[in-house]
Amino acid sequence: MLEQIAEQTSLCAACPKMCRHACPVSNAERRETVTPALKMTAVDLARRGRLPLDEELAGVVHACTSCGACSQFCKLGNNVAQALVDARVPLAHAGVSRVARQVAERMDRFGNPTGADLSKLHRQRVPARPERGALVLWPGCTALRRLPEHASDVVAALERALGHALAVVPPDSESACCGYPLWAAGLHERFAVQARLVTQHLKDRGALLTSDPGCAWTFNVLYPQFGSPLQQPARHVSQVLAGVVLPSTWKGPAPLYHDPCHLGRHLGVYDDPRAALLRGLNVEPREFTWNRAVSECCGGGGLYPHANRAGAVAVARRRVQHEVDERQRTGAETVVTACPGCELMFSRAGVPALDLARALLGKTSPAPRTEGGTR
Ligand code: SF4
Ligand code: SF4
Repeated sequence: MLEQIAEQTSLCAACPKMCRHACPVSNAERRETVTPALKMTAVDLARRGRLPLDEELAGVVHACTSCGACSQFCKLGNNVAQALVDARVPLAHAGVSRVARQVAERMDRFGNPTGADLSKLHRQRVPARPERGALVLWPGCTALRRLPEHASDVVAALERALGHALAVVPPDSESACCGYPLWAAGLHERFAVQARLVTQHLKDRGALLTSDPGCAWTFNVLYPQFGSPLQQPARHVSQVLAGVVLPSTWKGPAPLYHDPCHLGRHLGVYDDPRAALLRGLNVEPREFTWNRAVSECCGGGGLYPHANRAGAVAVARRRVQHEVDERQRTGAETVVTACPGCELMFSRAGVPALDLARALLGKTSPAPRTEGGTR
């Protein structure tokens, strides 16, 4: 497997670190060994047999949120995020990746990688709706697991905007997670099985919508790569909400909009969430200094919170507070994003944050979260 990424790793090993400034992980951890160039150099040395496949290398390779920011500044177009996930495959096989062991153990025990009974959470947290329809919502396991009101708020926002009832993918203990954590852990054989299972579960249910950009990216990009394409591409809820008016009871200054990496850089959806906010809140969302294609990460992707929880929270905090505090600069009080994982990470960093649907319903940010768990 490492030979398959030889070109990518050897490019970075010979590079004067042109993308160094862009990596949220090395900026937050303040460690040279986790800059994109040195992570890739470590993999390159392992490929040449100069470093062992061990826990230390696994720690370096997992110090990445898969945000893709480095590639935006790479004149060679090198895809570090993909190469570092590919490098996790032999580390998982060798049994030296703590993150892969944890994800595999949860998969064996719970039938999903979250460590929770997702079908039970689904019954508790998602309103009962038809299982098939023109539009069918995929709640996503991060929201199900970590944000108790998220799914019902997304259903309420969509139904209020569309004027008709949604369908919702029914609970199923083995098909409630798209499998992204398996892929990001380097457990690619298990991911392929999960993709087949979920594709079968979704067959003939309707056009799929999800509020989780990671799920949308997994369905639209990874599933075809692993031979299990959906019948039609999934859409993010912002792509529906951008086209309808949902008058909100939003009060206070315009919020700061944060581009989730999987929605923006990875799927190219930048305008729809901004349009939904403008139409729904009747205020133009404020912009981070670094936004759209060069937006900085919240720290929640690529299983980085599983590898380094404190580091991931530091990434989220730094997104809002380094150089200048972006809220003071723009007059915003709340960060609005379009991803439950981003809402969770900002909340853990003590930054008031809301997902798009919750903002459009006029909700306020919940109290910052300090609960345990990884993602
Ligand atoms: S991603 Fe590109 S710019 Fe960054 S270290 Fe590798 S080759 Fe250099
Ligand atoms: S993908 Fe993001 S976190 Fe990973 S090395 Fe590149 S900039 Fe850093």
